[in-house]
Amino acid sequence: MSTQETRTRIVWDYAPAPESPEHVRLRDSYGLFIDGDFRDPLDGTRVPSINPASEEPLAEVAFAGEEDLRRAVESARAAQPGWAGLSGLERGKYLFRIARLIQERARELAIVESMDGGKPIRESRDVDVPLAAAHFFHYAGWADKLSYGVGGRDAVPHGVAAQIVPWNFPLLMAAWKLAPALACGNTAVLKPAETTPLTALFLAEICQEAELPPGVVQIVPGDGSAGAALVRQPGIDKVAFTGSTAVGKDIQAALAGRGISLTLELGGKSANVIFEDAALDQAVEGIVNGIFFNQGHVCCAGSRLLIQESVADVVIGKLWERMGRLRVGDPLDKNTDVGAINSREQLTRIQELVSAGEEEGAVRRSVVCELPERGWWFAPTIFTEVAPAHRIAVEEIFGPVVSVLTFRTQAEAIQKANNSAYGLAAGIWTDKGAKAFEVASALQAGVVWQNTYNHFDPTAAFGGYKESGFGREGGPAGLRPYLKVS
Ligand code: NAD
Repeated sequence: MSTQETRTRIVWDYAPAPESPEHVRLRDSYGLFIDGDFRDPLDGTRVPSINPASEEPLAEVAFAGEEDLRRAVESARAAQPGWAGLSGLERGKYLFRIARLIQERARELAIVESMDGGKPIRESRDVDVPLAAAHFFHYAGWADKLSYGVGGRDAVPHGVAAQIVPWNFPLLMAAWKLAPALACGNTAVLKPAETTPLTALFLAEICQEAELPPGVVQIVPGDGSAGAALVRQPGIDKVAFTGSTAVGKDIQAALAGRGISLTLELGGKSANVIFEDAALDQAVEGIVNGIFFNQGHVCCAGSRLLIQESVADVVIGKLWERMGRLRVGDPLDKNTDVGAINSREQLTRIQELVSAGEEEGAVRRSVVCELPERGWWFAPTIFTEVAPAHRIAVEEIFGPVVSVLTFRTQAEAIQKANNSAYGLAAGIWTDKGAKAFEVASALQAGVVWQNTYNHFDPTAAFGGYKESGFGREGGPAGLRPYLKVS
């Protein structure tokens, strides 16, 4: 046997490296965070938050009813003039404090995020929590420079912002919503998603520790009915929603004619385009990061992989080999690449769409790996022989499933990438700078990454076109939705 063969046969394995939940100060029960304190629900209920990796309850959480939401909005209303009346410098100091406290409690927040949502600790530790702190730092810096962010014009806050976030990045989405709203002088009522309320409640504790004036932030967990009731409350001036396109449309209809400003960050079916001149090994890492990051529960996931025909077999071969090395399992293990599916409902939806892909004639390959007995899991999966009309090429799967299509020319790549009702993000892999710029400017997507994917930064705007919504979060553009500009 040659040395080369011996080397390639080495199988690296890792001992488990679990992060310990003992660092977490999790309460048995959480109330609704209204007017600076945790309160018992008036007409809401109490629901356990479940760990998707074990199906065990983590803590009991109050879900808001109509009366609770009314009280939350009233509290935000009462606090708003005082908050907007502070100088930008003073508001900024509070945001800096929140950012620093997120950093201080980073380990705890990362563990809770992984336990409540199922994402690998590597991601919550290295991405979600640091980016959440970075968003508060970023908007702390803007609080006293608002008019510079809107082209030197006069700007005033809308008033009370109702904010609804999904379950895939619970803490980070809360930060994306709260940081710019508060910097601009709005107060907020934030509704976390029903399956992942815990880190938002930790953020409520952080608001208390930062001595944020009562009423500036309310955190009111609840299900879809609470979200629907929140956007219908009188007394709100702004709605910012991140979630599915169907719910976004419902909210838009509910707000019609009420003069309420709206931002919608919705779903996606983003194209990740691999040209034959790309650095292919690097592109394969980008494909993996694009679709298997957070189990594919990512609005901008690179779920439609477009590969130039001349390199399709090579790329698919390398990708399949790389997928076989992904470690699926315990989200708290620091070696895990792919964690648990967030909920039983989401797992059912993934399974349903994957079955549809097989029935429609695409070729499915799922990695063979040992999945834990309890909890909700889905092995990394690739579909080839996908036609543009297949459901798996059109609909958002929101799971670790990539659909591969091929193209021959640059024009065909652009046409296929744009052949979607969505327009959230895209990736381009090429070593030709001019080609990258040309393709990027032809793509109907809010964000286009070149030779990278899923790269986030608080200074950069993020948001969609078409059915992916409107409005931008991040950077100076992220101030605009929270200000009335004259
Ligand atoms: P979802 O729309 O079902 O729920 C999102 C939030 O809205 C949750 O808090 C939910 O309780 C609430 N909600 C549900 N029904 C409501 C209603 N009728 N009125 C008001 N609120 C309601 O979406 P989801 O399944 O939780 O999240 C996944 C979706 O979110 C995907 O489509 C994904 O692409 C999208 N998403 C988009 C972005 C982005 O920035 N564009 C980011 C993350 C997720």
